[in-house]
Amino acid sequence: MEFDIFKKYPNLKYGISKKRHGSLKKITADFNSADIFRRNEKDFLTREGIKDSKIYELKQVHGNKVLNSENITGNATFVADALVTNAPNKVLTITVADCYPIYLFDPTRKIVAIAHAGWRGITKDILCNVIDYFVLKFSSDPQDILVGIGPGLGKCHFEVKEDVLDNFTAYPEEIEHKNGKIFVDLPAILEKKMLERGLKRENIEFSGLCTYCENGKFFSRRRDKNSDEVMMAYIGMTV
Ligand SMILES: [Zn+2]
Repeated sequence: MEFDIFKKYPNLKYGISKKRHGSLKKITADFNSADIFRRNEKDFLTREGIKDSKIYELKQVHGNKVLNSENITGNATFVADALVTNAPNKVLTITVADCYPIYLFDPTRKIVAIAHAGWRGITKDILCNVIDYFVLKFSSDPQDILVGIGPGLGKCHFEVKEDVLDNFTAYPEEIEHKNGKIFVDLPAILEKKMLERGLKRENIEFSGLCTYCENGKFFSRRRDKNSDEVMMAYIGMTV
């Protein structure tokens, strides 16, 4: 998966693991154990050419908290759904399987972030919180911020019931009623939120990949029902 908006920046490293790399972590596993997943994680990052970097991760809770990697110390478990850094050789990781990995980069201020955004996180404005963090803590100009939206549950497969739909009443254009079913277009909602925050349309790019549709490539919580296999998404800068 590559984003055209990031092509000009060879020091920017980002990606997402595929099914063939194995599950990178069990969502239900104890956060500090699960050796096989650690090994998969290490193998994957090595293949991606990531070395001599500190790896950061979170205990994700479908919330809206953003953490600077500087605040992650020792072996404690940090609860948040987005990581930010302005330092090189730090690799920020999240795990996903239907939730969207969102890659953010401000080439002017040299800041990267990654966010874990499913419908709950999107409703709680996780992405807007990362953008606000760039602006407030690093004086980013929203017009400089580049955003790549990775693979997640597309509108084709994000069918919701009325209770979930209630969270999206502000976005009638992003809701489709078809054959008695209701579908929500989360990428379109994310785009609207970013434009409201002052980002430029040409600085936003979507992979267009649906995790449910892409059975050969990605795990999908919704498709694989009883599975807790996940992909790892990462971003970082080299010197
Ligand atoms: Zn789909």
